Amino acid sequence: MTKICLYCKKEKPDNEFSQEHILPRGVGGNLDTYNPFSINDVCGRCNNLSGLFIDGPFIKSWFINNYRADVAKKYCHLTDKTVLPLTYFGEIKDLKFGDKICEFWLGPTGDTIYHFHEPYPEELDSPPIVGVPPTTYNKEIDNGFVFLFVRSNNPAWHPAIIFSTISNFKKSVIYLGNGDKPALDQFQVIPENLSELHLQLKSMQGKTHNNTVKIGINYADRFLCKLALGIGSLMLNPSFKESKSADLLRQGMWTKNIRDREKLPIRGTGFLGNKDTMANFDSFFKWSGGHSIVIMKTGKQLALYSNFYEVNSAVIQISDEPEHWEGKMTEGKVFVVVPALSKAVGPIDLAEFIAHRIEPSYTNEQLKKLEEEMEQFTKHPPFDI
Ligand SMILES: [Zn+2]
Repeated sequence: MTKICLYCKKEKPDNEFSQEHILPRGVGGNLDTYNPFSINDVCGRCNNLSGLFIDGPFIKSWFINNYRADVAKKYCHLTDKTVLPLTYFGEIKDLKFGDKICEFWLGPTGDTIYHFHEPYPEELDSPPIVGVPPTTYNKEIDNGFVFLFVRSNNPAWHPAIIFSTISNFKKSVIYLGNGDKPALDQFQVIPENLSELHLQLKSMQGKTHNNTVKIGINYADRFLCKLALGIGSLMLNPSFKESKSADLLRQGMWTKNIRDREKLPIRGTGFLGNKDTMANFDSFFKWSGGHSIVIMKTGKQLALYSNFYEVNSAVIQISDEPEHWEGKMTEGKVFVVVPALSKAVGPIDLAEFIAHRIEPSYTNEQLKKLEEEMEQFTKHPPFDI
């Protein structure tokens, strides 16, 4: 048997297909029981390539990485095994060790983390990303070493600080800059040749650092095309997959060169689009502590609004060919995703969602339950005792 791949439109044998997460796992797409964003008509090759070149740069963009870290910190259950994402603050320009540059990160309680490594290979046409580029997968890179200075004096936070650092720098040697070496394999005693650097870093604690962050304005446009195509395939008539609108989104997701991509007639705002327009949408659709994905009908167009981690929002056109959603779409549909709970809710009718939001006497049971569950995740021990 054969199938047509949603992303490349090629006909391939069944065994060349694998499960694809339209919402990538790195932004909370590994949902526990109910996953409305999982599809199985994407070929293994597309799945792999889109992970490296489309999802990867999106997940590892400065915006997504850092707001993900903010939200994860706010909504977590602190245990001895909690792993939280770190916040990235770019390269410290005047700090080097031999050939190694220094990248600066913050841990869960504002812990300062210095990662020294040889520069990663530059990827042409790829937006700047946080940490190791996904495209260096399987290539030789210098994993370097890390100095961690723990900020919180509350032992309740220490496992989360230690394990979050280990998780973010899996292949690097880690030194604890302020305190005794933890009894964990990845931590080592600071060697003699790093003692001077150690002193220098110690003297920098509590001071501002001269760091620079690279931000790519095109960091998410390919991802948005992929998301719109995927959501369209889930929510519209099957004929959508063969439509001109779907072809345009395919072109958008696979055109690597930024200038070529800009020439495509794809309608939308991008994540750095008009702030006033977006603020309007955000006030209705933003979901604190998570993502919202909204399909909206406006006249003859069907658009996708998405908001990740409360602040990264964009609109992209899915289709302007109404025959492909005839009978399927009245006003629109809403999904809410809460990474902290590994949970998604939806599709909920747009009117239902808005009523829940603005009508005090109206309640949608699914959304109410989600809000109640989220509240339990916001009580944390203090950083300082
Ligand atoms: Zn394919």
